[in-house]
Amino acid sequence: MTSGELAQEQRLSNPYDSPPRFQLFIGGSWVDAASGRTFSSIDPTTGHAWAEVAEGGPEDIDRAVRAARTAFEGGWGQATAADRAVALRRLGDTLARPDVIERLAVHEVLDTGKVVREAMGLARAFSSWCYYFAGAAQALQGDTIPVPMKDTFTYTVRRPVGVVGAITPWNSPILLTLWKLCPALAAGNTVVIKPSEVAPVSTIELAKVIDESGMPPGVVNVVSGQREAGAALASHPGVDKIAFTGSTATGRSVMRAAADNLTRVSLELGGKSPNIIFADADLGLAVNGIVSGAFAATGQMCTAGSRVLVQDDVYDEVLEALMERTRSIVMGDPFDWATDVGALTWGTQYHKVLDDITKAQAQGARLMIGGARPGNAPTADGYHLAPTIFADVGQEMDIARQEVFGPVAGLLRFRTEQEAVALANDTEYGLAAAVWTRDLARTHRMVNAIDAGTVWVNCYRRVTASVPFGGVKASGLGRENGLDALRDYTETKSVWIDTNEEARDAFRLA
Ligand code: NAD
Repeated sequence: MTSGELAQEQRLSNPYDSPPRFQLFIGGSWVDAASGRTFSSIDPTTGHAWAEVAEGGPEDIDRAVRAARTAFEGGWGQATAADRAVALRRLGDTLARPDVIERLAVHEVLDTGKVVREAMGLARAFSSWCYYFAGAAQALQGDTIPVPMKDTFTYTVRRPVGVVGAITPWNSPILLTLWKLCPALAAGNTVVIKPSEVAPVSTIELAKVIDESGMPPGVVNVVSGQREAGAALASHPGVDKIAFTGSTATGRSVMRAAADNLTRVSLELGGKSPNIIFADADLGLAVNGIVSGAFAATGQMCTAGSRVLVQDDVYDEVLEALMERTRSIVMGDPFDWATDVGALTWGTQYHKVLDDITKAQAQGARLMIGGARPGNAPTADGYHLAPTIFADVGQEMDIARQEVFGPVAGLLRFRTEQEAVALANDTEYGLAAAVWTRDLARTHRMVNAIDAGTVWVNCYRRVTASVPFGGVKASGLGRENGLDALRDYTETKSVWIDTNEEARDAFRLA
């Protein structure tokens, strides 16, 4: 980064003099909710409302699904893969504009409490999802299949499923929306997005960018609203697939609601990912991995590596180094480029994390650092919590079993590789895991033995458009990113052609 770019980023701040209002985006138009209702979005750094947002309900969801259906059956449905690739590339080009990157980053800072460094890093990457899936759109192809019958030609084609409902959480709203939107559009579907009521604004700002990019009306629709709006989308008979990211409990409700219409679902749910450090690892690297795995995004990551399993011989050394590194973490103004960790995104989550900390202490975990609002919190009412480390965590404790979704790491001990595997897999979740070791043979054994959708080795938190991401067990169903995601947004149609015209009058029963 040049010093000019750095100086420019340091100038980023709330651009509004008074709380802005945000509407629904349906059928290419900006509209109020049918009920006329609005709700406030809270800036987590101050704890006060900063924007007013249209509160869409079932009627608005229905309007949006109809608009998406019309677009699917109209121009977008007739578009070739090359046309769709052009639309996605145009969206990528719009997302790559420096002014758009800054605009989206600023709205995420204000709405989610992300620090500007992280928000800008994410915003710079958004276009890469569009470009990857623009290419993938044209690589979507069927097969010609040999069959044991004479004079028969058989092939498959991939068809879009139709209207996709995308329901997203509050922790990384734009990124998690693009994970659904890009493969859905590449495959030829239209989309209705229901962002989280906790942080809806950046997704609405994304809709403005989509509009600016020239996307045809109705192809992408955004309906902000409460949980009822999500439920209305999940149970809408006009929706052909629900792509959901959120908690495991809500994922179960979504799947139940979708069952009545036999709507397909993909679910990206919670996690309790093990971060496993062997004595032979590069411990400096591993400690950095624990810090970024547990405290980046204020710990509000589905993949948080908050269950830190450390081999006995190096447990004390790792704990000491981790505490030292954690003491250097800067909390403060999220618009300050030097700030490492911002506020939690909303009050309910903040108090839940504080309760989890109290419970962990009551259950016998040893609080080593953090555990409360930092003395130098930048505002009195913001949801700030100092990065927190527990030692002597037992596998039976809630802190080792349940998702905290805050900046809290708990250290457990293991002696042998077998014990590490047993601890790692003793969880209802299976989203991600990391293994820190220099032993190649052990790497392969661990990768094979761990039940998780992603295993990182000597790294953490790497994701990109081309690599499938998703969970096993209670962490979800299906995959986002990569060609797996693209296929999840299609149906296979099988085609049989009898090529023997001579035999057309013959009646075949078998
Ligand atoms: P949540 O489940 O409370 O809400 C997610 C979305 O679902 C919101 O838009 C909400 O309005 C909607 N919703 C709520 N009830 C609904 C219902 N009955 N039917 C349909 N929609 C409904 O989750 P959250 O608190 O916003 O997000 C945090 C959770 O998301 C954590 O558990 C985290 O692990 C998970 N998450 C998973 C991933 C992943 O990729 N696996 C990524 C980020 C977050």
